[in-house]
Amino acid sequence: MVKTTVAKVSKMSKSERLAALREKMKKTDTGGGGKGFWSPKEGRNVIRVLPPVGGMSFFFQEVGKHNFPDNRRSYCSLFTTDGEKPCPICELVDDLYADGAKSSIKLAKEIRLRRGYWMNIINRNGEDAGPLIFTPGVKIFNQIQNMINDPDYGDVTDEEEGLDLIINRAGTGLDTEYDVKAKRNSTPISEDADLAAEWLEKAKDLSWVEVSDDPEEDSELSKGHAVYILPYDRVVKEFGIDDLDVEEMAATVSGGNVEEVEDVEPRRQKAKAVVKGKVPVKDVDEDEDEEKEEESEVEKEVTRRATARRSARR
Ligand SMILES: [Zn+2]
Repeated sequence: MVKTTVAKVSKMSKSERLAALREKMKKTDTGGGGKGFWSPKEGRNVIRVLPPVGGMSFFFQEVGKHNFPDNRRSYCSLFTTDGEKPCPICELVDDLYADGAKSSIKLAKEIRLRRGYWMNIINRNGEDAGPLIFTPGVKIFNQIQNMINDPDYGDVTDEEEGLDLIINRAGTGLDTEYDVKAKRNSTPISEDADLAAEWLEKAKDLSWVEVSDDPEEDSELSKGHAVYILPYDRVVKEFGIDDLDVEEMAATVSGGNVEEVEDVEPRRQKAKAVVKGKVPVKDVDEDEDEEKEEESEVEKEVTRRATARRSARR
């Protein structure tokens, strides 16, 4: 169980937390594009993962995505809310796998859930940038999780007694390998208490928020949040899920060989099981190619929303 192991209550009082959250919501830019995100470069990287801020319960926020062949994307409400909200696209993916037709499976494979874990970090090789959002996939997250579960390390995000992490990245593309180690000695986030406080103040509130049925209200409701999901019915409508031309859409999926698809078990249950700690993470699909893609996610989402708003006005 990841969550119980890493749970850490903020040391701030309730009113201080609320004041900090309100202040942050004023400042947080939701349309930052690649700005504000970090990903490991090839070779040695040293980072410090920050503890939860704002409305976050834990140092990370699970973020699910669905990518459509026409480049539209949607956050997965099921995975992102840890099962609290159903996701029509996950249901569609299950139906497509159950249907079993080649085109259905090809499309299912394309739009299935991609899992990421968002967290605030300080890049020790560029501290001037302040807190950045790191969005690792399962490979890196699993290594951080193992470290936290190991009594020799414990909560590596602790403000005072946490540990800097060394991420070695080797190779590129699908062959990219990541190795995560912790520094030998625990240290505070910064020896300079004022700077540490400033970083925690500037770190993004990554807790999810659900926007309304009205696209016009999106920017207001998502203000202060980097992770937001759409209501169920709106996703169904915006992605035309009720009358999808599977054949046509599958035909636009680039690459991929449908003959190779053997495992047609619905990914939704598996993904949930991983979150609940029931299935070893290695048993599910790796989406490490997501590690590099995340940077432009917000930008794409903003563009998508702007387009949706424009067409809604017409
Ligand atoms: Zn989903």
